[in-house]
Amino acid sequence: MPALKRIRRCGLSSALVSALLATVSLHAEVRVLKNFTLIDGTGRPPVPQAAMVIDNGRITWIGPVSQLKAPAGAETTDLTGKFVMPGIIDLHVHLGATIDLTQDAKNQTPENFEKNLKKYASYGVTTVLSMGTDPDLVFRIRDEQHAGRPSEARVYTAGQGFVFKNGYGGLVGVNQPVATVAEIEPAVAAQAAKKVDFIKLWMDDELGTMPKMPYEMSAAIIASAKKHGLRTLAHIFYLADAKKLTEQGIAGFVHSVRDQPVDQALIDAMKKHGVWQEAATLSREESMYAYGITPSFINDPFFVRGVSPEVIRLLSSPDRQKTISSAPHYGQYPKFAAMAKQNFKKLVDAGVKYGMGTDTGPPGRFAGYGDHWELSAMVDAGLTPMQVIVAATRSGAEFLSAKDLGTLEKSKWADLVVLDANPLDNIRNTRAINSVYIAGKPVQ
Ligand SMILES: [Zn+2]
Repeated sequence: MPALKRIRRCGLSSALVSALLATVSLHAEVRVLKNFTLIDGTGRPPVPQAAMVIDNGRITWIGPVSQLKAPAGAETTDLTGKFVMPGIIDLHVHLGATIDLTQDAKNQTPENFEKNLKKYASYGVTTVLSMGTDPDLVFRIRDEQHAGRPSEARVYTAGQGFVFKNGYGGLVGVNQPVATVAEIEPAVAAQAAKKVDFIKLWMDDELGTMPKMPYEMSAAIIASAKKHGLRTLAHIFYLADAKKLTEQGIAGFVHSVRDQPVDQALIDAMKKHGVWQEAATLSREESMYAYGITPSFINDPFFVRGVSPEVIRLLSSPDRQKTISSAPHYGQYPKFAAMAKQNFKKLVDAGVKYGMGTDTGPPGRFAGYGDHWELSAMVDAGLTPMQVIVAATRSGAEFLSAKDLGTLEKSKWADLVVLDANPLDNIRNTRAINSVYIAGKPVQ
């Protein structure tokens, strides 16, 4: 080992020498996965008998196993009979605030963030966009991840999103509501200084029960964000607000329109301005009425493994179910969920761009499990499993401008899910998780 001798002769400390050696051995980490069926996230047909070489977390070669030239010393995993797809990208989550079924900004500790991000990863969700309810610790987590190779879901964040004073949205203790246009520019500048990935705003009146953000404020937020080089995303419910925000320059909607069918005017405007249906959150709409009874998945091992016994107890409680089912708008939620599905399918068919997002994090919207619920709900809405997989992988990365993520191609990070069954045959097979890799390392 002449390099080491030279280092020693230079009189470097042994600590530095071991650090250098660690770097050398890290660099030498080469893995080969082979004999799987590849679903690469691009939308191309699956490739049977595929193989990939992963060097230091990135894909350096991918193709048919017959052409594989495995580097000497590579750790090889035979995945005969398995299916490999890119890690899932969830474009709408809320991190770290919920323990069991209680949401509180006080829960947003580094430990709970870590636990939450590992939970997503264990369900094959390798990247999340946190939608505007994050404390500042999220920036440190994101920056540490960028500097290395994370072993938990990668974080993008909309920081602290914009809520109208006394209006709907945000998380108490995190979001400082705004009341006037004059407050907006400094508040957007503060978010930009923290290097948020997006600006988020909430435009809703909670079925007429709360004041809604005036349009001159959403216009000011979007304009100010643009000035700082940032795209703005909106929580919406009403068709009229979707139309107005599209005119104002919004980048995407993080929920479906739910009050009435979308019309051609909105479709044309979204296409013209490149506005995304960034997330349809169909599982969120279903979760609004799922807990008025004992949910069908209460004994599903795929659900149970992600929650505490206390969650099972609470979801099974007749008293809690009665409280939920007697809430004032309970009877309307199935109608809103159906409208969300119908509108989403209409936008997809019309060629509006779309990703996958769940709005998981708040009570009853479970990190990881909710993602697979969403994928199934997208198929229920009329999409093909391939459309759903592409939305949840390549399109998610495209929306995030994450050029190293989203598909399994040369030079990308090896963020992937190994499945025991074919998700193109049945989308529920995304739940047949054998293992998950982030940056080439198994995380489950
Ligand atoms: Zn949300």
